[in-house]
Amino acid sequence: MAKDNLTAVLHGIEDLRLEQRPIPEIGDDEVLLAMDSVGICGSDVHYLQHGRIGPFVLTKPMIIGHEAAGVVAKIGKKVTNVKVGDRVAIEPGVPCRYCDHCKQGRYHLCPDIVFCATPPYDGNLTRYYKHAADFCFKLPDHVSMEEGALLEPLSVGVHACRRGGVGLGSKVAILGAGPIGLVTLLTAQSMGASEILITDLVQSRLDVAKELGATHTLLLTKEQSAEDTVKLVTQKMSAQPDVTIDCCGAESSVRLAILATRSGGVVVVVGMGAPEVKLPLINALAREVDIRGIFRYCNDYSAALALVSSGKVNVKRLVTHHFDIKETAKAFETSRHGLGGAIKVMIHVTPRNTNN
Ligand code: NAD
Ligand code: ZN
Repeated sequence: MAKDNLTAVLHGIEDLRLEQRPIPEIGDDEVLLAMDSVGICGSDVHYLQHGRIGPFVLTKPMIIGHEAAGVVAKIGKKVTNVKVGDRVAIEPGVPCRYCDHCKQGRYHLCPDIVFCATPPYDGNLTRYYKHAADFCFKLPDHVSMEEGALLEPLSVGVHACRRGGVGLGSKVAILGAGPIGLVTLLTAQSMGASEILITDLVQSRLDVAKELGATHTLLLTKEQSAEDTVKLVTQKMSAQPDVTIDCCGAESSVRLAILATRSGGVVVVVGMGAPEVKLPLINALAREVDIRGIFRYCNDYSAALALVSSGKVNVKRLVTHHFDIKETAKAFETSRHGLGGAIKVMIHVTPRNTNN
């Protein structure tokens, strides 16, 4: 096997380096993956800029990246679900499997979860990476490695729509048309929503949402009050939304989500903004509007894969830029400044389309 294990390591704020790392040794339940595609997520950029997200603080160098797919290069003695040469998507959070949360099936709440590129755990923007075999999902031949990497954000959309109870005939409002808002849009459509309104502050993002099939788009300004915006949402939609999914995290947006949702409906908060915000709680409780948060995903990867492999959802439009791992710095620049209308920036550890 090649000795080259070029790896993108975040050493501190604004200090992302490419360096050689040893190729990991695998355990009996693990696989070694030759990495192919790794998407850049807002959280990767956040760690680069701030060195922390809430309680997760970078205190030692960490390999970046967690939206990824690779090819199985080696398997541990006990591995039976995949074999060498399989192309797999990587679910990045591996829980303990023993605690109450794990046993009850809500393993994403496991306090001991090891999640790629969340300090102190390494991510997978590297040539060779080891992972728990049972958190690898074999991709059918017609699903590309890039699509495999995109199962990560798509799973967030699946989890959000499931938590919101989106179903046949649902009227859904999605606030924010970044990558997460867009995958939530695609998922809501596939789950049978009949009418979907999506908001953003940026027209070009709404144009993409329209192209992907949003029924209505609504361009907002930062100055607009939630109270004024509610009227606009109601004017555009045939009725108040049953489910409103916040995918930006701004206080005004979560406020809007509560005020706009019909009585008895559900607000799902995906966006992570300020840790504490002021919200119209009495309005929500007096109208029995449920407010539900989501944290990543749980048992959603296989549904996300089914959506892509069946052709129900096309995530390819989200990828606007491609870079080689050697161009990691440029890839992060493009993502963080949204250069050239960047939505999802994909880094190729193996030259693009070689493994498809
Ligand atoms: P992003 O920053 O790329 O996209 C956010 C979009 O929202 C942008 O297009 C922006 O213009 C728009 N926006 C900002 N303020 C707005 C407002 N007031 N009204 C309407 N639109 C507004 O981020 P992303 O990668 O799409 O992620 C979206 C959010 O979801 C982030 O806050 C991220 O931290 C969060 N997130 C949460 C989870 C979770 O597990 N809960 C997982 C992934 C991402
Ligand atoms: Zn656990």
